[in-house]
Amino acid sequence: MASTSSFTGDPKQYPIEQFKEEITGSCNCGAITVIVKDNLWANPEKGHLCHCQNCRKTSGSFVTSNMAMEKAKVEIRDEQGKLKRYPDYNTGSGKKVERCFCGECGSAIMSDPELFPDLVMLKTGMFPRIPKPECESFVGHRQSWEEQSVLGSAPVLFDTVRGQAKFEGK
Ligand SMILES: [Zn+2]
Ligand SMILES: [Zn+2]
Repeated sequence: MASTSSFTGDPKQYPIEQFKEEITGSCNCGAITVIVKDNLWANPEKGHLCHCQNCRKTSGSFVTSNMAMEKAKVEIRDEQGKLKRYPDYNTGSGKKVERCFCGECGSAIMSDPELFPDLVMLKTGMFPRIPKPECESFVGHRQSWEEQSVLGSAPVLFDTVRGQAKFEGK
């Protein structure tokens, strides 16, 4: 059955000024909303792209867009109890990363890493506006045709884990 949804996904419809205190995102079905009480535009760049296999599978794409955020600043509203947590131990550290998604519509919500108990890695696709990411991780695992970064002329690229060895090419 064709839906009559209006296409409200154009980021330009949402001035950044309205998100200086907080920003609210949601999954496709709307059962889960995520409120971040922070100004994501306080710095020119925020968040990172990741080419690792786990992120690719989670997002259904060749790259995913993540944002580390203090748990204290994140409020999750899930009145119907739809948030599912997949415990993923197939990680670089061997520590558990809970991959959280909506059990109704399948939208990726966040990763909850045992390694960083005070942080969650929010999936930025759920927000009406997304800041420019500050770096890319697992660039060594990207596809052969991804020769140029979407981040512009001097992107910060890490070979694997963010904050560790820089990507030296190929
Ligand atoms: Zn949903
Ligand atoms: Zn990743």
